[in-house]
Amino acid sequence: MMHTPDKLLLENRAWSQEVSRKDPDYFKQLAKEQRPDFLWIGCSDSRVPAETVVNAQPGEIFVHRNIANQVIMTDFNCLSVLQYAIAVLQVKHVIVCGHYGCGGVKAALQPQLSELMIANKWLLHIKDIYRLHQDELEAIDPAKKLARLIEINIIEQVYRLAHTSIIQSAWKHGHQPSIHGWVYGLEDGLIDELIKLDHNTQIHPIYRYAD
Ligand SMILES: [Zn+2]
Repeated sequence: MMHTPDKLLLENRAWSQEVSRKDPDYFKQLAKEQRPDFLWIGCSDSRVPAETVVNAQPGEIFVHRNIANQVIMTDFNCLSVLQYAIAVLQVKHVIVCGHYGCGGVKAALQPQLSELMIANKWLLHIKDIYRLHQDELEAIDPAKKLARLIEINIIEQVYRLAHTSIIQSAWKHGHQPSIHGWVYGLEDGLIDELIKLDHNTQIHPIYRYAD
């Protein structure tokens, strides 16, 4: 476990030296440009680091993370990342990766805490998803409710991506990207795919951009 920022800096020096020892050109090559095939939209949870859980190297994944891996239409941070990834980097796949045991989704199932006035507003979007799927969620075993809402939240974020002008315009002008909804298990380190959409997906007419 890391205990101080100084320890982090020491580890950084050691890592940099080790990488350069194995491949003296590594950083010079990597500094030239990035051409990642993937945009990863994940949860900020420290236990789900994007590159680590899929054994990827620097340069392979463009990453955006926030509490409970949400795609919110008023979030210029997430939408800017999405636009840059699609329009400039031309990633082939967008992955929304949530995880079981997500504290953000768990908090959304609880009453709002007055000391978290800002975070509450972020979690309201998950409460809305709960209300949209209330019949299903309240009919299942209460012990499975959190896990199911975590899955539904991931699926809803994939649809939200498909409803953006950024994705629809990319699908209209080419075939990329496909959008994947993945769920990661904290207890076994394994990822399952819940949903995949691509340019063949029929978007509901009310979400479609007119030509
Ligand atoms: Zn989480």
